[in-house]
Amino acid sequence: MDTFAPGTVIGIIGGGQLGRMFCMAARRMGYRTVVWTGGLEAPAIVVADQAIDLPFDDPAALADFVSRVTVATVEFENIPRATLDAVAAAIPLHPSPDALATCQNREREKTFLRTHGIPCAPFEVVASADELAAALTRIGTPAVLKTADFGYDGKGQRKLTGGEDPAEVWRDFQGARAVLEAFIPFELELSVMVARDAHGRTACFDPAENRHRHHILDVSIVPARVPAAVAGEARRIAIQVASALEYRGIMGVEFFMLPDGTLLVNEMAPRPHNSGHHTIDACATSQFEQQLRAVCGLPLGSTRLLAPAVMLNLLGDMWIDETTAPDWTPVFADGEAYLHLYGKRHAIGRRKMGHANFIGPDTTDCLARAEALKARWLGT
Ligand code: AMP
Repeated sequence: MDTFAPGTVIGIIGGGQLGRMFCMAARRMGYRTVVWTGGLEAPAIVVADQAIDLPFDDPAALADFVSRVTVATVEFENIPRATLDAVAAAIPLHPSPDALATCQNREREKTFLRTHGIPCAPFEVVASADELAAALTRIGTPAVLKTADFGYDGKGQRKLTGGEDPAEVWRDFQGARAVLEAFIPFELELSVMVARDAHGRTACFDPAENRHRHHILDVSIVPARVPAAVAGEARRIAIQVASALEYRGIMGVEFFMLPDGTLLVNEMAPRPHNSGHHTIDACATSQFEQQLRAVCGLPLGSTRLLAPAVMLNLLGDMWIDETTAPDWTPVFADGEAYLHLYGKRHAIGRRKMGHANFIGPDTTDCLARAEALKARWLGT
C-alpha cells in the first residue's frame, strides 16, 4: 500500500480557498505542494510551494503537473474527466476519477443514490420541455429544477410552484440536461464530513447544522442540534455513501432533515467542505489534515470535537467596499473566535472571503457571538 511520508510533493488540482487551507495543513506537516489552478482565481498560490497557473485542458500543464508531484488530490470537483483520467494514469489520484465524476453531475449523483438505496428527494432526469412537463405531473409542485452539470451553491436552480409554462422554463434554463426534484419542506440542513482511507476505514466528524443566506452557507453549528439517533443515522448514511463510492479522501455529505427526523441526501462534495471549516479550530484533526492523511496512506486522525463551535462565513457583502475589509477588532476581542481570511483581493457580491470560527461552552453561546458580529458587519 502506498504511503507518502512528509517531504513528499502533493499535487492539488484547483487553487481555491480549500486548496489554500489544504496547503497550510500540508506545510505544517512538512509536505510540499504544487497547486494547479485551472487559470482561475487562486488564493492557494501564495501558500503552495509551486503553482501551475494554467487551464485544466492544457496538455503542457498536465505534463508539468504529473512530472512534479508524487500523489495528487482535488479541492474542486468541476475538473474535466479527461484531465482526471490523464492524471490518474500517471500518478495516484485520490479520490478516483469515477468517484469525482459521480459527484460532479447531479444526474449521476442522484442515480448513484437511488441505485444504492440511499434516501434522497424523489427526482426525474429531464432533457426537453416535454419531458419537463411530464415529470412535473409525476413529481408535482413545488419542485426544484437543477442543471445536471456544474451545480454549486444554488446556481443553476429554479423553484417551480405550478403556474409556469414548462416550454418557457426550459428555454430560460438553457440546460442540456436537468434534474427535477420534489421540493422538500425540511426542518433543517445537516452535513457530515467523512474520511475513508486506503484500507476502507472511515471516520466521521460530528454532523454540522447548516443555515444558508441567499443560497450560500451562512453558519454551521456543531454539533447539530438534532436527536442523537438522527446524528447517528447521518453518520451511517455518510459512511454508506463513501463506501459505495469506494472513496479515498474526505467528502461532505449534505442532508435535508424532515420534521420527523427522516434524512434525505441532498448532495455530495468530493473534497473538504465549507461546513467542515470549524474542524481547524474545534477538532482534534482538521478536515484538511484528514484529507492529507487519507490521500497519503496515513492512519486517519481523531475526529473528536474539542469544543462546541459555530462557523460564520465572511462573504463579500460584509466588506465596506470592494477593497476595504470590515473592522476585525471585535473578532480579535473575542478570545475564542478565530479569523480565517483567504487573501482574495476583491470583495465582490457574495464571494467567500473568509470565515470565523467561534468556540465556547455551548452552541447557543457560540451562535450568539457569531450573530452579533455578523449583524455588525452587515450593518443590520
Ligand atoms: P444545492 O445546490 O442542491 O445544494 O441547493 C442549494 C440550496 O437550495 C439547498 O441547500 C437548499 O436550501 C435548497 N434546496 C435545494 N434543493 C431543494 C429541495 N429539493 N427542496 C427544498 N430546498 C432545496
